[in-house]
Amino acid sequence: MTTETDAVRMTDAAVAHLREREADHLAQFDEFLRIPSVSADPARNADVQRAAEWIVAELERLGIEQATIHPTSAHPIITAEWLHAGPDAPTVLVYCHYDVQPSDPDDEWVRPPFEPRFEDERVYARGAGDDKGQLFMHLKAAEAWMTTAGRLPLNLRFFFEGDEEVGSGPIETFIDEHADLLRADVCVVSDSDTFDDHGTPGIGYGLRGIAYWEVRVSGPAHDVHSGQYGGGVDNPANVLARMLASLTDADGRVTVPGFYDRVRDLTAEERAAYATLPFDEAEWRAETGVPAAMDGERGYTLQERLSARPTFDINGIWGGYSGAGAKTIIPAWAAAKISTRLVPDQDFREIEQSMKAHLESIAPPTVTASVQIIHGGAPAITPLDHPGIPPVARALEAGFGTAPLFQRSGGSVPVVAALDAQLGLKTLMVGFANPSGNFHAPNEWMSLRNIRDGMASIVHLWAELGAMKADDLRA
Ligand SMILES: [Zn+2]
Repeated sequence: MTTETDAVRMTDAAVAHLREREADHLAQFDEFLRIPSVSADPARNADVQRAAEWIVAELERLGIEQATIHPTSAHPIITAEWLHAGPDAPTVLVYCHYDVQPSDPDDEWVRPPFEPRFEDERVYARGAGDDKGQLFMHLKAAEAWMTTAGRLPLNLRFFFEGDEEVGSGPIETFIDEHADLLRADVCVVSDSDTFDDHGTPGIGYGLRGIAYWEVRVSGPAHDVHSGQYGGGVDNPANVLARMLASLTDADGRVTVPGFYDRVRDLTAEERAAYATLPFDEAEWRAETGVPAAMDGERGYTLQERLSARPTFDINGIWGGYSGAGAKTIIPAWAAAKISTRLVPDQDFREIEQSMKAHLESIAPPTVTASVQIIHGGAPAITPLDHPGIPPVARALEAGFGTAPLFQRSGGSVPVVAALDAQLGLKTLMVGFANPSGNFHAPNEWMSLRNIRDGMASIVHLWAELGAMKADDLRA
């Protein structure tokens, strides 16, 4: 029987171990970051595989069992487990990804992207924050428990992906086929950032989904003279512009029928929480370079619109003449890439179809319109009253010395919605990257402070969750 004071002593010993071994850990981190596991580049396939092997060797070295590299239709998925905390103890699934974004433009890096630079209390390298750094922190937190206590305070399963940066293609099939390796009471995903760069941790509880289309409007069989045919032949570019403009109304709402039917509105509690989040609009404007924030959907604040409401965007638009000078034509066709960011409980497949049907229905008989569905992903949310949230908040406060703030993210992490839809598994998003850490950009970095305080937080989190009963953790 472990008493409460034992638990505190064991947690403190594991945190102390992390502090004592920091130099060794950073040397190992350097080694891991040097493997260029770029999932988008087929020339790097062997490196992605090598990164997977590096992780499995580490898991085995620290006593995590069944560490397995599963081949998929794309890059490998890794699973592993340590399940000796007893049947009443909770089981947590840890998800991170070990693939990284391409590094180009390489000449904008101060040092090459796969030669880590330790400077200014930061680690600069591709993957430092997104997401190899966070994966590495989970390995070291587990190692700290295994080395000092000889055990983990709860049952852990690991689920590491190599395709996150290219759309997580194999995830759904893998979850279907290997549900038994992923069974848990809750999932912890570390692939997001802290609330700010000044040591305030964050708990993410919502992610937006997406739906994406290409629209093409065709008119005459070929470009025609606008003097000779103008006024008689409808112009596909004019038509496309009108159609796309009509997709949002004067209140900033999307006009596709049924678009808002399933949108779960913000609760009064959430809106109150949004209102108290620190947000400097002038700083936000300076960072984006826009002269002013858009009006957006009426009735919602800028912060609410940035993460908790659906949006519509034209991602690209082309057609007709765009060379030097003037060319007086009515183009034969015009096209656009468009997308919507979705929020719980919008169904991306339903939205894909309703947008397609709506665009086809509003196209005038003077043209033909075709709409192709490009890709989609589901939104996700973890209720703020999930029983896992208070222990996460206590662990982050113990690690960072500051209470976390709650945030919804405007982006998407496909695995979160997939685990919920396929296994009914809820996710706690506990991220440690720095918000201004240049993910997907040159000179990506993570602060040593976030690494240190984040690893300590994970150590505390396992103690906090391990003190609960599995039944009490299931929402
Ligand atoms: Zn990521």
